[in-house]
Amino acid sequence: MKRKICNKCKINKELKEFYKKENKTDGFVTICKKCILSYAKMYRESHKEKIKKELKLYYLKNKLELRKKHKIYAKNHKREKREYDKEYRLKNKEKIKIKKKEYTIKSFEHRREYRKKHGKRIDIERKIEEQKSRIKEPYRLRKYRQRRRHNRGLDPWNPPGEKVW
Ligand SMILES: [Zn+2]
Repeated sequence: MKRKICNKCKINKELKEFYKKENKTDGFVTICKKCILSYAKMYRESHKEKIKKELKLYYLKNKLELRKKHKIYAKNHKREKREYDKEYRLKNKEKIKIKKKEYTIKSFEHRREYRKKHGKRIDIERKIEEQKSRIKEPYRLRKYRQRRRHNRGLDPWNPPGEKVW
């Protein structure tokens, strides 16, 4: 097995530790995979904000196109997605359970807080609604009686066959 010294870490490594590149004399790049990966990682970490900004800009610029692509992709990979979701659920049962529990507690707390803050207003609004429906009820009842009377031909003001409502 042929070996080669990495230009970065200076370690003598097997050729499979290097990426291939056609225009290099021996067909391989001068720096080993590990060094390239660690450099990429370092770059990502030291340029986090910049990369984030660039990604965001790229997304904004290509929003419509990307959405379209995503839609097509999702359509073409429905089954895979379903299978992936299923597998994910199976693999992360506990995690999902905890998340659900957390969410339930959170939403309960949120509702309690909301109730504390807006309870009085909600009560008043509810009372108003009740009153409104109480006013509505007799109206509906009146209409109902009117309709019944009419259908029996007992409506003196509206001859049978003519619609009242
Ligand atoms: Zn190296």
